[in-house]
Amino acid sequence: EVSEFDLIIVGAGFYGATMAERAAAIGKRVLVLDRRPHIGGNAYSENEPETGIEVHRYGAHLFHTPNETIWNYLNRFTAFTNYRHRVYTSLKGQVYAMPINLGTICQFFRRQMTPDQARQLVAEQAAELAGRTPSNLEEKAISLIGRPLYEAFIRGYTAKQWQTDPRDLPEYIITRLPVRYNFDNRYFNDRFEGLPADGYTAIFKRMLSAPNISVALKTDFFEVRKRIPKSVPVVYTGPIDRFFDFAHGELGWRTIDFDTEVLSVGDFQGTAVMNYADENIPFTRILEFRHFNPERDYQTEKTVVVREYSRSATRLDEPYYPINTPSDKGKYMKYKEMAENEDNVFFGGRLGTYRYLDMHQAIGSALKSFESEIAPRLEAQHT
Ligand code: FAD
Ligand code: UDP
Repeated sequence: EVSEFDLIIVGAGFYGATMAERAAAIGKRVLVLDRRPHIGGNAYSENEPETGIEVHRYGAHLFHTPNETIWNYLNRFTAFTNYRHRVYTSLKGQVYAMPINLGTICQFFRRQMTPDQARQLVAEQAAELAGRTPSNLEEKAISLIGRPLYEAFIRGYTAKQWQTDPRDLPEYIITRLPVRYNFDNRYFNDRFEGLPADGYTAIFKRMLSAPNISVALKTDFFEVRKRIPKSVPVVYTGPIDRFFDFAHGELGWRTIDFDTEVLSVGDFQGTAVMNYADENIPFTRILEFRHFNPERDYQTEKTVVVREYSRSATRLDEPYYPINTPSDKGKYMKYKEMAENEDNVFFGGRLGTYRYLDMHQAIGSALKSFESEIAPRLEAQHT
């Protein structure tokens, strides 16, 4: 019964699992609810039955973090492989390395350049912004790489991914991608990177393994909410607008349709992720999962590929990417204020705070909130 617990957590993703693990470690009885039939949230993965290849069911998940505390915390639940993410992008029948680096720039302009020559060229091509502080995705991208590279590698991909005027998108979306004036084509700059040696789902099994943690799957919080006593704190990692019955309207989200295929070839594209920059190709990227785990002894007869098609999410879809137009930001501020007035409900995670959080950021913010808000609340409970 729900009243037997000291803490109720809505959502078994990284935010909820971190909270549950921490609360259980101080002896609290924790109930984790998720409406999905599995733990792991969007980081969930499983082996595709025909091929045995681990597939991240909600899109490719690459773990990386600059933060040693978060890295050490997660290493208590998994070992990591030494996978280093690299992405290529297809443009008009040619393949280039992403993120944009000196190799991409030389190949695109068809000449060898030194780092300084490339910097100077890009500076000239970004001159239209001179003096102005970029205030949206398009201006930010042009300031970083100039207009020709923006139009080639960013504009079409971003149009497919967001279907939103790039001048209405926040600049942080594009600053996720580094720009490098050397030939380093790693996707991430972070000090720590790798994939979980036994897959993502094993991490969650271990995080939620304490005897004082119960997990109820296929359970929607809104269906059991009335039975939860007001005195029991709730950590809510579902969509914040849904919690307040869309009182200020719906927040904008993008969802993805994943089109999965098993092909009778050993290697389809020679790499894990191939982006498609051309706007007339309807998908944004193709994932080939075997390449995430080259250390595994997978069979070589078949491979699994997934094409990603991005579209605007309705209430019935899984919300994946917060769009964050100026209008969304206004609505979110109102929900945030309502959330702050909830005495015993704590909002967290990607959906609960309407933020484009990476896994390490979801874990980091859960650890922080546990220390500052949840542990003090739980400790006050029975005294
Ligand atoms: P989630 O994992 O979304 O978990 C929330 C859970 O709450 C869900 O399981 C949901 O079912 C449950 N829930 C919601 N409402 C209810 C309800 N009413 N009742 C019960 N349960 C409910 N991060 C990286 O670091 N690297 C990557 O490469 C990366 N790639 C990504 C690719 C895609 C396509 C997407 C969508 C995300 C990616 N991320 C990546 C981000 C990563 O998925 C998030 O950082 C992480 O999932 C956040 O964890 P969370 O616990 O906040 O949310
Ligand atoms: N982006 C792009 N071209 C690319 C890759 C990324 O224009 O080849 C832009 C696009 O707007 C995307 C953003 O950069 O949404 C962030 O890319 P990232 O790979 O971090 O997106 P995610 O993995 O979260 O889907």
